[in-house]
Amino acid sequence: MGKPTGFLEFPRQTQEYLPVAERLKNYQEFVLRLPDDKATTQGARCMDCGIPFCNNACPVNNIIPDWNDLVFRGQWQRALTVLHSTNNFPEFTGRICPSPCEAACTLGFNAEAVGIKSIEQAIIDKAWAEGWVTPQPAAVKTGKKVAVVGGGPAGLATAQQLARAGHFVTVFEKNNRVGGLLRYGIPDFKLDKSLIDRRVKQLEAEGVSFRTGVLVGADKLPAGIASDAREAITAGRLEAEFDAVVLTGGSETPRDLPVPGRELAGVHFALEFLIPQNHEVAGDGANPVSARDANVVVIGGGDTGSDCVGTSYRHGAKSVTQFELMPQPPEQENKALTWPYWPNKLRTSSSHLEGDTRREYSIATKEFIGANGKLTGVKAVRLEWNNGKMIEIAGSEEVFPAERVFLAMGFTNPVAVVLDAFGVAKDARGNARATTEGANAYTTNVPKVFAAGDIRRGQSLVVWAIREGRQCARAVDEFLMGSSVLPR
Ligand SMILES: Cc1cc2nc3c(=O)[nH]c(=O)nc-3n(C[C@H](O)[C@H](O)[C@H](O)COP(=O)(O)OP(=O)(O)OC[C@H]3O[C@@H](n4cnc5c(N)ncnc54)[C@H](O)[C@@H]3O)c2cc1C
Ligand code: SF4
Repeated sequence: MGKPTGFLEFPRQTQEYLPVAERLKNYQEFVLRLPDDKATTQGARCMDCGIPFCNNACPVNNIIPDWNDLVFRGQWQRALTVLHSTNNFPEFTGRICPSPCEAACTLGFNAEAVGIKSIEQAIIDKAWAEGWVTPQPAAVKTGKKVAVVGGGPAGLATAQQLARAGHFVTVFEKNNRVGGLLRYGIPDFKLDKSLIDRRVKQLEAEGVSFRTGVLVGADKLPAGIASDAREAITAGRLEAEFDAVVLTGGSETPRDLPVPGRELAGVHFALEFLIPQNHEVAGDGANPVSARDANVVVIGGGDTGSDCVGTSYRHGAKSVTQFELMPQPPEQENKALTWPYWPNKLRTSSSHLEGDTRREYSIATKEFIGANGKLTGVKAVRLEWNNGKMIEIAGSEEVFPAERVFLAMGFTNPVAVVLDAFGVAKDARGNARATTEGANAYTTNVPKVFAAGDIRRGQSLVVWAIREGRQCARAVDEFLMGSSVLPR
């Protein structure tokens, strides 16, 4: 373990942020990597618990106590090897993971958790800077061909694992660049896109081919689903040309709010604002949706909503209000009741603190109000919650001025037309039906067609997408070769 008395001697320390005034000037990352000496001290706090709850809570089961100890001892390259043994892309999770590991850290029970995520980022950022992250091409090729449909974190993890097992992997992506929601969705200020580009280069050097701007299984997509496709490929053609097909297309159907006035100009799905913003930062042309000088109402209290808040402030919004249907959670969880599980508690993101964000809880949208076809306000009603039942409070209607509304209420299911094109059966929520355990893990009802990531589990987290991609790769390798040495 780190230093036996480290947890008594040193406080938790995480990364520093650039001041708000500085970071609102652009879309660059503003979280500063923990310097080596501070990461070392933070590693010293780890108690190397007999039952490492952090490791159990982490969806990729990062071997956290080991790399904490190695960082404490200054053995950074060995820490990198341990980190990479469970996670293909720690630079993504080290930036944007909500860190269930820290919620589960034993030290967090009556003190402050080890700064696990900061240490993770410190290891991988140092590794890239030192040139320790290099391609690992397979020594022997199998001659088997695998198509991966969707270049998000699930697709990239699947592709990397399968290429390292010696298969020829082609990733098909409908957008003009790969990365999925990491690329087009999550703002640049949370994740710099050059981090994806350098991983893509690594995958290419390991033998993965990328075909961008190619839509698989459909000629066109339902409204509200972004696509830069210039070309379409049928499901049948992929099945004929490849030994296995892995569907990692995400869960892209946004939840709508069909109240009166939904058609007014100024009411947008969150990704109609966030995706063009990523394109603008990438130099692809201006975002047609502007929040400049607008009163913005973001409907939905999760990550996507928070990203709309931060992006609105960077546009120069006049005011930002965020609605959440559920009651305000407690500021502090009751650890005795919740630990080591993910607690329900008030979460204030860095974006919320970039302006005077008004956060409204127990509130429901009744109507979008407008004049001359343009949004001018949102009529909402306060709610009372009784045994999980939502009751509108009579006479509590209020109109919030708004020229922009961003609907950030989550995503309901993957695009059905693509699953239908392959004949893949769906579960009750419309996700690709496939289990994660047993002999048929990640297999769909269609021979040689697999599914992983949000397309299988529904909208989730990057770390779950990486886990599923890794596990699915092993299932595909077993299917192709009869056995696999890939980790699960
Ligand atoms: C705004 C926003 C912010 C988020 N913030 C966080 C966060 O901070 N932390 C976190 O952990 N998670 C976050 N998430 C969730 C996370 O991004 C997703 O859970 C994760 O990206 C899912 O990975 P995936 O590979 O399964 O799917 P995706 O990332 O959705 O990738 C799927 C890819 O498949 C492509 N595709 C789909 N269909 C086809 C087809 N037919 N042909 C070709 N290509 C196709 C899509 O274009 C896309 O590139 C956020 C999500 C959103 C929307
Ligand atoms: S739970 Fe916390 S203290 Fe225990 S091993 Fe994990 S990081 Fe270290």
